Order: sequence, then structure tokens, then C-alpha cells
Amino acid sequence: MAEFKLTILGSNSAVPAHNRNPSAQILKHHSTSFLIDCGEATQFQMNKFHIKRGKLDYILISHMHGDHYFGLVGLLNTLNLNGRKTDLNIFGPPELEQIILLQTDYKREDWNFKINFTPMTFGESYLLFETKNLEVFTIPLDHRVPCNGFLFKEKKKARKINIEAIEQFNIPKTLIKDIKNGADYVDERGNVIKHENLTSDAKERKTYAYCSDTKYNERIIPIIKNVDLVYHEATFLKEDDEKAVLRFHSTTHQAGIIAKKANAKKLIIGHFSARYANLNVFLNEVQEVFPNSAVAIEGEEHFI
Ligand SMILES: [Zn+2]
Repeated sequence: MAEFKLTILGSNSAVPAHNRNPSAQILKHHSTSFLIDCGEATQFQMNKFHIKRGKLDYILISHMHGDHYFGLVGLLNTLNLNGRKTDLNIFGPPELEQIILLQTDYKREDWNFKINFTPMTFGESYLLFETKNLEVFTIPLDHRVPCNGFLFKEKKKARKINIEAIEQFNIPKTLIKDIKNGADYVDERGNVIKHENLTSDAKERKTYAYCSDTKYNERIIPIIKNVDLVYHEATFLKEDDEKAVLRFHSTTHQAGIIAKKANAKKLIIGHFSARYANLNVFLNEVQEVFPNSAVAIEGEEHFI
């Protein structure tokens, strides 16, 4: 089975505390690797959890708060020292490019690899880029500074071939690819056999939604509707809902409501405030609203 896997590298908000680090996660789909946000400890966490730095293809930064990008320049420098040659694709707010340029300026000309930086826009969901197997859309969030989440959606898959039917109608192997892609078969007497009778439905397109820093925002629900896995920030417990509004963050219950209204299959909450040492209460509260929930634990893997 194709691998579509999330690994949590950082689960805390703002400052490192209680052995938890600022935001970062690795999403792997087949052989393509995405780093989503890059808090200060990211490259150390990659070492700890045996994530291969050299295999990174894309880096996506949700917004310009330090706990989401302060690890980036250090990681880029390490990739260069490791001799990376392949281009690296980075997506983020336009200001991020200036920071990368400023911090690498004195020696960037000597770098072994090229950075392809694409500035994001905010306010509306759009197709940010696509790979061979995935489309990546932005999810506009409601935070103190412009902020996007990211929706990763598998591309439409070819239908599954029905081998018995292929044999029954004696269909040449050379036509199978076309039939999988939707072509009908016409035999030598001119009879048309519809591709629906020769194939069955393709596997479902799996989806993952990363909802970074945001206050409660129902506008994202149609964008992440029926998602297989959603990560949603829950910086605060429900009793601190006023703080959450003031700081443009969410609570456990709010994250659960979003997952429920979006008909998500599973929810992971993270970006915990340093004011809380124990995450058990977070888990209990979110499960009151959305039972199939987990708290983000660094090093844990989630299969989509
Ligand atoms: Zn933030």
C-alpha cells in the first residue's frame, strides 16, 4: 500500500517547554517528503526520529511567527554542508524570502543547491502547487498575521481493472491502460463494452489538512470537508476560551467542533501553550466533542 504518513516533530506553541518543541511536521507520500513549518528544534528532532534530511523535497511555512520558521536557516545551512545538489522548493509568506536571503547572504553564492521560493497569497484557498501524485491547496486561517494551512489531496486515481472481464472479452493487453483511464472497448464486430463493465471504482483519494495557528473559523469547513486526517491547533483548554479569542488561537473544544462539522475521520490537536504541563486534559476535552482525536506527540507517526 502506498505510504501516506505524518510524523510530528514539534507540538508546542511559542516557546519550548515540558520537553515539547515549536511546530514542525514531516508528511511523506510515496517517495515525496514535505516539511510543514520549521520551528527552532526541527533539525535536532529530525535526527532524533531518523528523518533523512537529504530526502526533503518541499518546505511549507504557514506564517511569520518565529515558532513556525526559526529553524529554517539552520536546516538550510546543514543541507548545504551535507552537499545537497537538488533544488529545494520553499513556499511561505513573501517576507520569508527576505529573511532567507539576509541570513544566508554572506556565502550563498557558494551554495551547492538552488532554492526555489514561491510566495503565498492569503485570504482565499487556491492550488499552491502539485506533484506527480498530490495537489496542495492553501487553507486561509484567521490569525494575528496572514496565515495559511495546507490541504494535501491525492490526485484522481485510475480505475481498477477487472481481470475476469478482460479475459472474458479477450481484450489485448495494449489497451488496458486506456481502459483504466476511462476508454470503452470496441470488439472486431463493433460491439462497445463500456469501461465501467471492465473496471471497478478507483481507490479513494486520501486527504490531509494542516490547520496551523487560527482562531475558531468556520470558513475552513467546506475546504476540509470529509478530510481523512486533520491537524488543528488547540493552544488552550476550553476554560481559557477568552484568551484564545484575544490571541487568535483555538481551544480543544473548538478544534473538535471544526473536525466534527467538517466530517473529518480523525483529528490531531497540537500547538499547546507552555502554560500546561500535562496533555491528558487536552485529550479528554477534545474527545468530549470528537471521539476519534489524538494529541500531537513528538515522534509519533500517523498513517492516512
Ligand atoms: Zn502564530
